[in-house]
Amino acid sequence: MAMSPLRRQILALLHPYRGLFLFALLQVGLIAAAELLKPWPLKVIIDHVLGDKPLTWPVVAGWSRETLLLATCLSLVTIYLVLGVLTLVNNYTTIRIGQSMVNDLRAALYNHLQRLSLAFHNRRETGDLLYRVTADTYSIQTLAMNGIFSILTALVLLVGMAVVMFQLDWLLTLIALGVCPLLFLTISMMSAHINRAATLAHERESAIYSLVQQGMSAIRVIQAFTKEEEEHRRFVAASQESLLASLRLYNLQSLYAGVVNAVIALGTALVVWVGARHAMAGTLSVGDLVVFTAYLASLYGPINIISQTLGQIEGGKAGFRRVQEILAVERDLVDGTRVLPEKSVRGEVVFENVSFGYDPDQPVLRGMNLHVRPGQTVAVVGPSGAGKSTLVSLLPRFYDPQQGRVLLDGMDVREMTLVSLRQQIAMVLQPPLIFPITIRENIAYGRPGASFAEVERAAQLARIHEKILRLPQGYDAVIGAQGTTLSEGERQRMTIARAILRDAPLLILDEPTSSVDAETEALIMQGFEELMVGRTTFIIAHRLSTIRKADVILVVRGGQIVEQGAFAELMQRQGAFAALYQTQFSDVPEQRSAMG
Ligand code: ATP
Repeated sequence: MAMSPLRRQILALLHPYRGLFLFALLQVGLIAAAELLKPWPLKVIIDHVLGDKPLTWPVVAGWSRETLLLATCLSLVTIYLVLGVLTLVNNYTTIRIGQSMVNDLRAALYNHLQRLSLAFHNRRETGDLLYRVTADTYSIQTLAMNGIFSILTALVLLVGMAVVMFQLDWLLTLIALGVCPLLFLTISMMSAHINRAATLAHERESAIYSLVQQGMSAIRVIQAFTKEEEEHRRFVAASQESLLASLRLYNLQSLYAGVVNAVIALGTALVVWVGARHAMAGTLSVGDLVVFTAYLASLYGPINIISQTLGQIEGGKAGFRRVQEILAVERDLVDGTRVLPEKSVRGEVVFENVSFGYDPDQPVLRGMNLHVRPGQTVAVVGPSGAGKSTLVSLLPRFYDPQQGRVLLDGMDVREMTLVSLRQQIAMVLQPPLIFPITIRENIAYGRPGASFAEVERAAQLARIHEKILRLPQGYDAVIGAQGTTLSEGERQRMTIARAILRDAPLLILDEPTSSVDAETEALIMQGFEELMVGRTTFIIAHRLSTIRKADVILVVRGGQIVEQGAFAELMQRQGAFAALYQTQFSDVPEQRSAMG
């Protein structure tokens, strides 16, 4: 029989723990044996201590009733003790395997998410992904351990009991087992409903994660616009939806358990009725009837467990599918094969008829041609939404163009491995992101091996060194901890220091100084100028001082480069740049312009 992909995936995750799994299987066998033994001491007491049936076992032949009673009671205690210890060990083993599998699956999923393209992340809600990584990954524990193990234990027990019961009274056994097909029919009929309800409950629950994630990341805007009430209402509505879905699932599961219990009660009544008649007719001893009814209670127990576990497994499958769905997303950025040695590129950048849209039907960049010689500084200017950030994000392959090629040193960037391509580039991006780690680690994020002196030098060039020294823990201060916060401009300077330390042949600066005052900007730009020497630099700029010094100015409008050239040349041409200059720069030469 061909194995379903789901089963193959579960087995693959289970593979590293096969030794422990076998050990757990052995425990299941022992637990079943102890369970089977449980009612026997009582039978011995009823038939041989209280009743007159002679015992045929040679070992106990000469024993008085008192000795037999004592021995039986001791064996009863022993059985329960052994069973308790075995159950304890088994729980530990199965939980350990299950949790380890959850950890492995999480790590794999997070790793995969880290490598999926920005195009994928743009389409997905962060909260939903969060739920898949933290909650849905638990499904593997339900599927592989809680599920399989409960069912396995129940099945072994079931077979063992059936064998012993057949020895005692085959007719009674047939009646007892006759209920099984009816039970399984009920189970299969209801599991489809439960599956659908479980999927819905997962989706509603993950919608709450998305909502909280969005709300928390937009908390400033929410408070600034006093939208707390509205946000609260949105949350309550989503929460209500989730509650309804969970209640529906819970109701279905309860109904399911109720129907199963009713069928079991029917079977029990039948067996007790026939069994009592057999005992009255003398074909079954009272002790045997006791063993029988004890087994019956435990026989239907496993069936009940199986049916309930099957319900949980359906829920588990829904979660596991949501994890696999992400793992199955192929990387849409196919990695290249050419490995560039670190800092090896000269920095010639060519855009050949490049067109790109986040949605392929809505182009953001249209037929762009561009030739930047090694070491040149390119200022990208244009109105907001013109496509400036998009243009520079094609170089590190955050996205691939739908048409045309981006060449670095004459090579299509798609030929290079992503890691070695991105190693050639240092970036200052918007908004400036700082991690909750020490300042030193933040600056050295792109070059973890950097010495402290190098980190300090980068901080000095980015004009953030003084501020860091003023913090009580200096470079060891953890951003976000103990009230260590940085202003927007300071964060920006941190990311500049990070880019400086990265020391890569290509620089991409997306509005690197938009949040600092003109004086600090001038100082930072001095530092940058030193850095830019010999490096190809793209700078999305708003200040005239920066634009004026660029080797090439690209004027982007509506996704096209409408003009390019040096400052003097463009001013002379009296075209698009000159017009922009008139309206945007001339009155406020050193102020931040309103161009973008
Ligand atoms: P600004 O100066 O305001 O930063 P820009 O010139 O850098 O603007 P881009 O950020 O490149 O402009 O955006 C160009 C267009 O692409 C805009 O219409 C924007 O809505 C769209 N866009 C930008 N980023 C995304 C994204 N991640 N997903 C979908 N559309 C996007």
